Amino acid sequence: MKKMSWIAVTVLALSLIFVGLSPVASAAKTTFYTIGTGGVTGVYYPTGGAISRIVNVKKKEYNMRLTVESTGGSVYNINAILSGDLDFGIVQSDRQFQAMSGLAEWKDRGPQKDLMAVFSIHPESVTLLAGADTGINSISGLKGKHVNIGNPGSGQRQNAIDSLTAVGIDVTSDLKAEGLKAAESPGVLLDGRIDAFFYTVGHPSGAFKEATAGTRKVKFVPIILPDSFYLKFPYYARSFVPISQYPNAVNKADVPTFGVKATFVTHSRIPEKDVYHIVKEIFENFDNFKKLHPAYAVLTKASMLTGLSAPLHPGAMKYYKEVGLLK
Ligand code: GLU
Repeated sequence: MKKMSWIAVTVLALSLIFVGLSPVASAAKTTFYTIGTGGVTGVYYPTGGAISRIVNVKKKEYNMRLTVESTGGSVYNINAILSGDLDFGIVQSDRQFQAMSGLAEWKDRGPQKDLMAVFSIHPESVTLLAGADTGINSISGLKGKHVNIGNPGSGQRQNAIDSLTAVGIDVTSDLKAEGLKAAESPGVLLDGRIDAFFYTVGHPSGAFKEATAGTRKVKFVPIILPDSFYLKFPYYARSFVPISQYPNAVNKADVPTFGVKATFVTHSRIPEKDVYHIVKEIFENFDNFKKLHPAYAVLTKASMLTGLSAPLHPGAMKYYKEVGLLK
């Protein structure tokens, strides 16, 4: 008995030494960062996956690991980054501008100085889809209809409100507005429980593939707005829905609308070296990154530095200066 317990003590001591020395010790130094994205049928979610996939190849070298979380969208992501619940997030360029300027959802709290830009990604179009049987042919046609304008944490909600207001439709009194998440929209449209929904997203997206694949015929509705709209909201630009991505929609040609850009943001508390490593991996594996989603087809390295309004994170700035993308 006595001999046995000495063996046990020795084994225990040795294993403690090993545990203390190797795998657990280095794993303990790994920093986990969570990227807030959007609904699983959007483009943010696979984008968070694409960024993580590229950067995590070097997880041992950088002692850092990125993980992805599905969220309610841009506004949720910005607020969660500011409160420390998320470390990085994908957010619409217009929402980035509003947060850093203290506008829209951030009006009461003022400019959010800790929000920092890293890079921009794919273009997103404010996309309006309606049942073909509803008679809705323009955004003005939404008057009196039942429309999902988006959940409160989403980017699209304010885009819907801005464009509806521009054509004289009051969202509280002139239509029946829903605040459902984008992932729910295709199902409720196809079931006939709503007439139309807005979703600001890159194309192609799972949501519109799903919404155009049901038995209810659906059509993308043009959102045509005057120059004064673009003067009032300089962060919006004319855009279109590429109809070739959705062969089952009733439309036969690209559908004009307006849009923004998806951007990658973080908090000033994230160390410079970690942001530098993330940017470096994405830019140095740019061709591989571009292959990970068809919405990235239009990306160039230079275009990924446009559409940003919050100050650049010092880690991103360091990389861009080093490679001459910034002076
Ligand atoms: N633009 C949407 C938002 O900010 C998300 C789009 C997506 O998930 O691809 O809520």
